[in-house]
Amino acid sequence: MATSYVPIIGLEIHVQLKTQSKMFCSCDAQYFGDEPNTHTCPTCLGLPGALPVMNQEAIIQTIRVGLALNCEIPAESKFDRKNYFYPDLVKGYQISQYDQPLTKNGWLEIETEEGRVRIGITRAHLEEDTAKSIHETDPKTGESYTLIDCNKSGIPLLEIVSEPDLRSVREASAYARKIQQIVRYIGASDADMEKGQLRFDINVSLGIIEDAEGVEDTLDIVKRILPKKHTPIVEVKNLNSFRALEKALEYEIKRQITLYEETGELSEMGNKETRGWDYEREETIFQRSKEEAHDYRYFPEPDLPPMRFTAEQIETWRAELPELPEAKAARFVKAYGIKPEDAALLVADRKEADWFEQAVEKQDKTVVQEVAKWLLGDVTYLLRERETTLLQSGLSGEHLVELVTLIAAGTISGKIAKDILPEIITGKSPKALVTEKGLQQVSDSGALEAVAREVIAENPAVVDQIRSGKESAIMFLVGQMMKKTKGQANPPVVQEILRKLILT
Ligand SMILES: [Zn+2]
Repeated sequence: MATSYVPIIGLEIHVQLKTQSKMFCSCDAQYFGDEPNTHTCPTCLGLPGALPVMNQEAIIQTIRVGLALNCEIPAESKFDRKNYFYPDLVKGYQISQYDQPLTKNGWLEIETEEGRVRIGITRAHLEEDTAKSIHETDPKTGESYTLIDCNKSGIPLLEIVSEPDLRSVREASAYARKIQQIVRYIGASDADMEKGQLRFDINVSLGIIEDAEGVEDTLDIVKRILPKKHTPIVEVKNLNSFRALEKALEYEIKRQITLYEETGELSEMGNKETRGWDYEREETIFQRSKEEAHDYRYFPEPDLPPMRFTAEQIETWRAELPELPEAKAARFVKAYGIKPEDAALLVADRKEADWFEQAVEKQDKTVVQEVAKWLLGDVTYLLRERETTLLQSGLSGEHLVELVTLIAAGTISGKIAKDILPEIITGKSPKALVTEKGLQQVSDSGALEAVAREVIAENPAVVDQIRSGKESAIMFLVGQMMKKTKGQANPPVVQEILRKLILT
């Protein structure tokens, strides 16, 4: 009997919010790269008697993210203590949210092989980050020890929990990237993975579909309904890159298939378990099973009052949200006639999208489309080659429009435009460059005719071919003429002249 498997994946995404101070104290939250334990105070060191004070900005940012993810914003919310012992948790508890998160019941749509699919978002709540453990080994004694850096302790941390609606590695990756884009767009976080501002925990199990019920269950996959039979859920914690996210999922899916096929019995596969990720060997490692799982003894945080929001406040925050990437892309398609896949690329970064819109303001559609083409083609290629970005480069929108206009007017050829692009990217004006270097396209037939006669004299065999009916061979002569004029000849004019001289 044939068996097929469907991965059932849910993600917990941790996002460090971009605020001036930490979540519950006034320590500077911009700690990256600073000396250990220089951004601390009695509160974020967890000293007895120190009291937390809420960071209002972090609360508003969380609600803004919730609104962007189509979540409900309950009128009341509160913080709770999550009690557990770990060296990087200085207080012995973390202030988090248990049963009354700031936002819940949202969704996000992603493109999949079955079309657009809505991925449920259970909740997005606010908590504080922990300190950082640094594991080292004494080079003399070989003894290993752990150091604690409390700079990260108390940084506002947003946790976005999805429903188990993702059905492949690709979908999980697309969803995670979309979350990153949205929090960046609304300015809630830089979500820089290299600085640890975005981290993932994954929950993965395998739906098992026997062929007899195949048809019905395949339909269920499209509707994101859970298959009746699935392997125990495995949680893999602390993945801090998209690569780790993808590799851990691939590894876990393969591991679970092998395990199920060896035993053939779900009851043999144990309970829900937590595994870690080995970055060097790229495999998951068993950490603990459900029986040993923590009982966090949550209770309402006694040092902080509950939070209440009016409908008016929530509507104000909703109204203040910027245009989100999907809406912007849809508008680009409609307003400028740009292909949806190009529009998606143009809106990938909010500031670059703004750059583009400012550049093409008041231009007609053909110019806008050409600017988009140059931006996504040659400009992107050149910026990548120089390891820089659009905004870091000297390229101005005005100059790119100028370049496109010069080509459209026949003043320069596309080839010349490409040749001078490296200089335009450093901030030079295309018009000035064309004048300075004498790059105007030659369309004057008198001047071109002389060059055409030379080329004809030099290539008698090709000329014979053209005369005997192989007209496509004319392109070779056009190429020769472009060479002789260093790309400055106007190709349609050249073709016209050659045709006239050879065929009449
Ligand atoms: Zn502090």
